[in-house]
Amino acid sequence: MSTAIWWIRRDLRLSDNPALTAAARHGRVLAVYLHTPAEDGHAALGAAARWWLHHSLENLGARLAKHGVPLIVRQGPAALPLLQELIAEHKVSAVYWNRQYAPSLRARDEAVKAALKHMGLEVASFNGSLLFEPWSVLRDGVHPYKVFTPFWKACVKQGLDQPVLPEPVLAGEGESGLNPQTLASLELLPTKPDWAGGLRATWQPGEPGAWLRLTTFIERALATYKDDRNRPDLPGTSMLSPHLAFGEISPRQIVRAVLEACQGRLDRHSEHFFSELGWREFSYHLLYHFPHTVDRPLDPRWEAFPWPETDVQKLTAWQRGQTGIPLVDAGMRELWHTGWMHNRVRMNAASLLVKNMLIPWWLGERWFWDTLVDADLANNIQGWQWTAGCGADAAPYFRIFNPVLQGERFDPLGDYIRRWVPELARLPQTWIHQPWDAPAEVRAKAGVTLGVHYPWPVVDLAQSRAKALRLYEAIKGKREEGE
Ligand SMILES: Cc1cc2nc3c(=O)[nH]c(=O)nc-3n(C[C@H](O)[C@H](O)[C@H](O)COP(=O)(O)OP(=O)(O)OC[C@H]3O[C@@H](n4cnc5c(N)ncnc54)[C@H](O)[C@@H]3O)c2cc1C
Repeated sequence: MSTAIWWIRRDLRLSDNPALTAAARHGRVLAVYLHTPAEDGHAALGAAARWWLHHSLENLGARLAKHGVPLIVRQGPAALPLLQELIAEHKVSAVYWNRQYAPSLRARDEAVKAALKHMGLEVASFNGSLLFEPWSVLRDGVHPYKVFTPFWKACVKQGLDQPVLPEPVLAGEGESGLNPQTLASLELLPTKPDWAGGLRATWQPGEPGAWLRLTTFIERALATYKDDRNRPDLPGTSMLSPHLAFGEISPRQIVRAVLEACQGRLDRHSEHFFSELGWREFSYHLLYHFPHTVDRPLDPRWEAFPWPETDVQKLTAWQRGQTGIPLVDAGMRELWHTGWMHNRVRMNAASLLVKNMLIPWWLGERWFWDTLVDADLANNIQGWQWTAGCGADAAPYFRIFNPVLQGERFDPLGDYIRRWVPELARLPQTWIHQPWDAPAEVRAKAGVTLGVHYPWPVVDLAQSRAKALRLYEAIKGKREEGE
């Protein structure tokens, strides 16, 4: 019987997995995870994602063991020599994987494919993580899209409901399991200090955990998604993002499950939910067609933006949730504790950093990258550049989120603040989003002394907004001169 490698990457699942299905059709399956952070470039995982990866591999290993398939984990500076070793050891005749789109990984995969083909192996890559490959949706059949709405219309026209592959019947080598020592040797988990308690309490990494999130979302939140998705105080969104980032569930499976749940009759809630999956597709489209955006702005005018020297104290205050702006602090603490932050709060936190504090977007992007369990290069870059105003379909330069008004609108009772910023919990609703404006006796009654229990704001929102607008006007002017 011939043997095929299923090279596992961000596709840690057995169902709807084209690479695994191809390997199973070929013969005996060797499931292989290669840990090669040195060649991953910008896509090398941050700390929270490494925690997730450890547990997801553990879960996948246990599930593969039931099929008699070993999960082999190897580490080294580069994937190709590791693959070559395994090919020789196990007399492998084919290698299959699902594609990734980060520029560093695309270049690596091309080289690996060419080398393995040269060795006479059968090699194929598949679409395991997107509804639409970035090159399959083009404006006039030629140009990449830079605006979301026409992009998504073109996607919807091609059809969102796509075939989903069943879990294949697997022929393993008889021996099975994932050696816990090998997994431990990757050193993916935090040790001193162990900061992952909040992550453990919040998440269940792995394919079964992904399905639990999806079914819970469909039962409890899909019917009100469009109304509640902006409310960080409510469980209004799916929280599927880390499962999608690690490929524990595919967007095809999500679309199919939602369509089945609403018996094919989409309403404004399910349509809106699909359009959010569309933003993920759009992010991948942009990263693929504009690979320089991993560390440079899509809009070239922003190359010249006069970022002042970074105020490290302010950056640290932002990272620690000590800016004195309650909505942002709540979000940054939620992020630190759970590895996730609500989308509405991500936008506010990013806007405060980039626009009010004038700290370059890539410093925020790297912090999110290290602390998010759903860290996804395409989505993170797109989210940051959108908020900074230098990306595709970006927020207009004059949109500077006002975290006080945003808090009052999207966390009307202040419950989100009370949960994550307990030192403000006794402030009445009227003042909880702007404690600095509360009458001194109200603060005293709530046990809040600013500068002691909770910081004064690191920036004056109105003044910093005016300053940002002046700088941003100059950039806008550049376009007008250039047009
Ligand atoms: C500054 C900033 C950084 C971000 N970084 C990331 C990141 O690293 N990884 C990440 O997955 N998302 C990122 N996002 C997008 C978004 O905040 C998260 O995808 C969303 O909060 C995940 O929660 P959910 O699964 O409950 O979303 P839901 O509302 O349930 O949406 C379902 C899925 O659609 C996708 N999605 C939703 N909103 C967006 C969006 N705005 N852009 C792209 N895809 C979206 C996600 O895959 C999400 O899981 C970022 C947004 C901002 C503003």
